[in-house]
Amino acid sequence: MIYIFCAPSGSGKSTMVNHLLAMHPELFELSVSCTTREPRGNEIHGREYYFISVDEFRRRIRNNDFVEYEQVYEGLYYGTLHEEIERIERAGKQVLFDVDVKGGIHLKNILGEKATSIFICPPSIEELRRRLEGRGDTSPEMIEKRLAKAEEEMSYKQQFDRVVMNDTLAHAFKQLDAIIEETK
Ligand code: ADP
Ligand code: 5GP
Repeated sequence: MIYIFCAPSGSGKSTMVNHLLAMHPELFELSVSCTTREPRGNEIHGREYYFISVDEFRRRIRNNDFVEYEQVYEGLYYGTLHEEIERIERAGKQVLFDVDVKGGIHLKNILGEKATSIFICPPSIEELRRRLEGRGDTSPEMIEKRLAKAEEEMSYKQQFDRVVMNDTLAHAFKQLDAIIEETK
C-alpha cells in the first residue's frame, strides 16, 4: 500500500510522515519531490527535497520526468519524479507522499487501489497560523499566502479516502496507526 498525505501547509503532514518513518523504517520511505523554492531551516538537498532551479524544473517537465507537478504557490513549482517511486519500490519499501491537495488527488487517480489518500485536518485556521508561526522557518509573507490557500484546500477533504484530525499529536498518531493497520 502507498500512502498519500495531503493538507494545507502547517497541518502536520511532515509530522505524520516522520512518525511513520520513525515507527517503521524498514517498511516506508518518503518520495523526495523536486521544488524550485529555497531550502528552509535545516532542510538538506536530497532529504526533504531536491532543490532545483526553474530552468532545471522546466527541462525535467519537457523530459517527462514527473508523474505529476503543480505550481503550488505563485512561481513555486513542486513535482513527483517517476524515478523516486521506482527507487523506493526497487528497495522493497512502501512509498509515502507528502504533496499538495491537487497533486494528491491526481496521484490517487493514477494509483487507484494501490494507494490510500489521507487528508490531515487542522483543528482551525487560527491554530494553523499558530503552527506555521511557531515552526519559525517561514516568512510572514509566505505564511499569509499559505493561510489564504488553506480554506480552499479544506474544501477538498471529502475527496480523500481517510481524514485524520490533527488536534493533539497523540490523537492524530492513534488515528493514523489505525488506518495503517486497517489498510496495510
Ligand atoms: P506540514 O508538513 O503539513 O507543513 P508540519 O508537520 O511541519 O506541517 O507541522 C507544522 C508545525 O506544527 C510544526 O512545527 C509541528 O511541529 C507542529 N505540529 C504538528 N502537529 C501538531 C499538533 N498536533 N499540535 C501542536 N503542534 C503541532
Ligand atoms: P512546503 O514548501 O511547505 O515544503 O510545501 C508546500 C506544499 O507543496 C505542501 O502542501 C507540500 O505537500 C506540497 N508538495 C511537496 N512536494 C510536492 C509534489 O511533488 N507535488 C505536489 N503537487 N505538491 C507537493
